Amino acid sequence: PFDVLVVGGGPAGAAAAIYAARKGIRTGVAAERFGGQVLDTMAIENFTSVPYTEGPKLAADLERHVREYDVDIMNLQRAAKLIPAGDDGLVGVEMENGAVLKSRSVVLATGARWRQLGVPGEADYRNKGVAYCPHCDGPLFKGKRVAVIGGGNSGVEAAIDLAGIVAHVTLIEFDGKLRADEVLQRKLRSLPNVDVVVSARTTEVLGDGQKVIGLLYEDRGTGKVESLALEGVFVQIGLLPNTEWLKGTVELSPRGEIVIDERGATNVPGVFAAGDATTVPYKQIIIAMGAGSTAALSAFDHLIRST
Ligand code: FAD
Repeated sequence: PFDVLVVGGGPAGAAAAIYAARKGIRTGVAAERFGGQVLDTMAIENFTSVPYTEGPKLAADLERHVREYDVDIMNLQRAAKLIPAGDDGLVGVEMENGAVLKSRSVVLATGARWRQLGVPGEADYRNKGVAYCPHCDGPLFKGKRVAVIGGGNSGVEAAIDLAGIVAHVTLIEFDGKLRADEVLQRKLRSLPNVDVVVSARTTEVLGDGQKVIGLLYEDRGTGKVESLALEGVFVQIGLLPNTEWLKGTVELSPRGEIVIDERGATNVPGVFAAGDATTVPYKQIIIAMGAGSTAALSAFDHLIRST
């Protein structure tokens, strides 16, 4: 068995594996896709001490760093079920291929995925004007016009944030009204360079072959299709944690995030969690790495107390 088995090979999982391996204990990483969301990213400019890198390069750097240590990397392996420890004190992780990996402690770091609009143009112009993370990509749109799709808290927060950077923001909400907290809505309405459009169904992201040039939405009241000329579209309709496989074993929040304490512990003994899959506030690379380190150190602490 492993001492620490990490499930997930994004920034959180990589950091957890390095911290665990440096304790000289048997460490494994099982990941569906080593690198995680970072693989889908282009420019990364907020990873402190690295002024500029790109997703695929950072993903390769993560893997190279993990491979510096004696870590058993099991890539392209999807976990299907967590089996809490029985009398033998070993937690099981059942993989989709039926194999069961056993470990004295587990770090869950399966990350999250942005909910997509699913309209024409969205995938084609991803990273070419279509963005999902205002903290990451906001500055790329300095002085430009953007739309934010989604009028929940994250959409309205994104619109307020972006309004301070870009020339103009159009917030587009499908429903008849915004769902964000009133205090956020009040702040939004006070901003001179934000328009809010409700009852609007985004139907297409328009581009010129290279980058975004606008979007189309249907006014759900009149059925009329309207077009907006702009350079960026921030999709803020939800971040979905990759935790479906944990339902019924680990405590999840109403949004499906793994509930952790400040040490990264879940409600299941010997099982820790880190990164975008958890209730940690703010989903960022540097935050996921810090959380992965915390979870691995907590797992080590658990091990030295349980022998
Ligand atoms: P992830 O990166 O999501 O990794 C999860 C890992 O778990 C992957 O290896 C995945 O394959 C694996 N996995 C999932 N389910 C299973 C399963 N059942 N079994 C086994 N393995 C599984 N952040 C920044 O700080 N700066 C940026 O500029 C930035 N830009 C971004 C741009 C885009 C387009 C996106 C999508 C995100 C961006 N982010 C950025 C956010 C950042 O990528 C995430 O916060 C970070 O990757 C989270 O790390 P994580 O390890 O928690 O999860």
